[in-house]
Amino acid sequence: MAECYAVVNQKGGVAKTTTVVNLGAVAALEGNSVLVVDADAQGNATSGLGIEREEIEHCLYDLIAPSDGGPAVDEVILPTSTPNLDVLPATLDLAGAQMVLANAIARDMRLRRALEPIQKAYDIILIDTAPSLGLLTINALAAADKVLIPMQCEYYAMEGLSQLLKIIAMVQAEINPSLTIAGAVLTMYDARTNLAEDVAQEGRMNFPGGTFQAKVPRNVRLAEAPSHGLPAVVYDKHCPGSAAYRRLYWEVFEDA
Ligand code: ADP
Ligand code: MG
Repeated sequence: MAECYAVVNQKGGVAKTTTVVNLGAVAALEGNSVLVVDADAQGNATSGLGIEREEIEHCLYDLIAPSDGGPAVDEVILPTSTPNLDVLPATLDLAGAQMVLANAIARDMRLRRALEPIQKAYDIILIDTAPSLGLLTINALAAADKVLIPMQCEYYAMEGLSQLLKIIAMVQAEINPSLTIAGAVLTMYDARTNLAEDVAQEGRMNFPGGTFQAKVPRNVRLAEAPSHGLPAVVYDKHCPGSAAYRRLYWEVFEDA
């Protein structure tokens, strides 16, 4: 059975997508069978993995929107140029999911149900989420075993944290009792500033799962790689950002 991680933070720009793509790619390069689920209508994980819009016939929307005779999950999944790494793509269609699902039965279990048939085909599933705590993010939390929270090392990093933890607690209480918080990933870390260390300190104190030792430094290679349709760990495996994501992989999955 796949171990499923939801990568969540309702703030935008904290490196959710960068973390999903690179952690997923490292896991795949280490020999795991990995699926990235793009649950953000922006489709950044999809394009960052080199999938062009024209190649996408069906997207996540077609799996979770209530309809008869939609595609099967394995008809939606696409391979990427990285061996062992597949993606369940998102397109802007997904932006309509919230509205279409609003009155649907078991509307928060759609993603979990959609992934059931392929649980045995993958070792690791990583779900990238939108910067919101809306229905799609709830679906991601309902489908996941664990939550990873990327946290940008900046002054307002903790803002919104209590709201996020409240939503996670609600999902645990109502629909997914075995959900746990794996921990926070410190991103865009600059060791030269006191601020980064303050955020790290606060993270260690405030997160139920603590923070991972591996901190992802600010590194332009991580930002460049998506425009080449490649994970940074493939595009430039020697850059500091890639090294950090390899360390993070061993920490997150050491017991997997
Ligand atoms: P989110 O998915 O949370 O919105 P992204 O992963 O898209 O965040 O990252 C936001 C922006 O910051 C992107 O342009 C990304 O390339 C860039 N970025 C992410 N992590 C780093 C990093 N460690 N160093 C430099 N740029 C980064
Ligand atoms: Mg994103």
